[in-house]
Amino acid sequence: MYNLAIIGGGPAGYNAAAQAAKGGMSVVLFEKKALGGTCLNVGCIPTKTLLYSSKMYKHAEEGAKYGVKAESVTFEYDKIVARKNKIIRKLVAGIKSKMTNNNVTVITGEANVVGNDGKVVRIACGEEQYEAEKLLICTGSVVAIPPIPGVDTAEYWTSTEALETKEVPESLVVIGGGVIGIEFAGLFNTFGTKVTVVEMAPEILPGIDPEISAMLRDDLTKKGVEFHLSSKVLHVATGCVTYSDAEGEHKAEATNILLCVGRKPSLDGVRDLGLEPNRNGIKTDSHMRTSAPNIWAAGDINATSLLAHTAEREAQVAVNDMLGIEDEMRYNAIPGVIYTNPEVAGCGTTEAALQAAGVEYKVRKLPMSFSGRFVAENEGGNGLCKILTDANDKVVGVHAIGNPCSEFIAAACVAIEAGMTAEQLHRVVFPHPTVCEVIREAMFMI
Ligand code: FAD
Repeated sequence: MYNLAIIGGGPAGYNAAAQAAKGGMSVVLFEKKALGGTCLNVGCIPTKTLLYSSKMYKHAEEGAKYGVKAESVTFEYDKIVARKNKIIRKLVAGIKSKMTNNNVTVITGEANVVGNDGKVVRIACGEEQYEAEKLLICTGSVVAIPPIPGVDTAEYWTSTEALETKEVPESLVVIGGGVIGIEFAGLFNTFGTKVTVVEMAPEILPGIDPEISAMLRDDLTKKGVEFHLSSKVLHVATGCVTYSDAEGEHKAEATNILLCVGRKPSLDGVRDLGLEPNRNGIKTDSHMRTSAPNIWAAGDINATSLLAHTAEREAQVAVNDMLGIEDEMRYNAIPGVIYTNPEVAGCGTTEAALQAAGVEYKVRKLPMSFSGRFVAENEGGNGLCKILTDANDKVVGVHAIGNPCSEFIAAACVAIEAGMTAEQLHRVVFPHPTVCEVIREAMFMI
């Protein structure tokens, strides 16, 4: 009998397995597809690898702006995809060795929980049965396909097929202007695809500071992406999306359609446990405990944040709870990044949320051009950093657009998590010249 069984080898599952094993537990980890889960195989890493190639291409094309001239810059998309696959293989191998080095037993196959009496969980996988004292559910999420008329017969891509294509589509309609849809819109637009985005909400990237989302949309529009906001998709057919807006019904035609309307928790193998639900996932408390005394859940399965870094942190909290180490999950400083060009990043609450809560707050805003490094490295580029503080001038939200805010947003996470005030943050020494200095500089604004 194992101390701990983990179902799902994504960021929640494999990190939890290593940590629990280091903490002295005997661990068995079940993975039905590939270690690394969605994140490593069909999510974070493949998208960022492809996006990096698109940024390299753009850099080379625009080199003349920086006094560097490259003649006839071209790309070979099949090689870009092959490099992406090579990187995935390398990182999956790294996780395999991490499991081996920590003495985690990895079972490849679909796990099904067949019994739990509160003390022993029984799991069937293939021909074998396994027993464990504790269970951590990390089964993640799968693509959600909305019941749009026509979707059953139309040909379309989800993010998974869009990552696999070896040819850049001539034209693409992206249904859904959320993070995943906008990253693909930016990617294919850079490689010359005519991209149209149809989004139901009045602005792209729901949940992101609307001022910043609008700036990214303007930038992508200038680059040729067409946006239809407040637009409801009525029908999908191969190569044609019918949608309606305030002016009536329209058709958007393209060689390919990409459906990006969200993801839903995957309950495969754990559905029969009858755990208390949370939206369409499994409900967890601040220690990642479920409604069963010997079962925890972490990652996308609780339908709370659907981000890899949240999954990893939740898994850490769950294992700490099993090991009797004081810890608690908080969601007030979870960063979110859109790896487009320019990048968008945010952490903490938004102005819209503060307004809705009716609380006192201050906004400090600074154009990215206040950073010498930004000006040096982003010829003609625009950007903004927006900092929100509460009634006690504690930093509660930081939102930015401009490269490379995906990297410097970590400073904001630390400030918010540590409960720093604007004055305390302003006393920290930041390296110069860095784009991150805009965060410190913004503290002068009030
Ligand atoms: P997953 O990574 O989904 O892993 C769950 C694993 O469980 C899977 O490997 C699955 O095969 C396995 N499994 C399920 N059921 C069983 C069973 N019964 N038996 C055995 N195995 C089972 N997040 C970010 O933070 N940053 C990003 O840039 C980012 N980009 C993304 C881009 C795309 C295109 C997509 C789709 C997602 C992206 N995400 C990103 C989200 C991120 O991938 C997820 O939040 C993260 O993978 C969740 O981790 P997890 O461990 O909860 O689940």
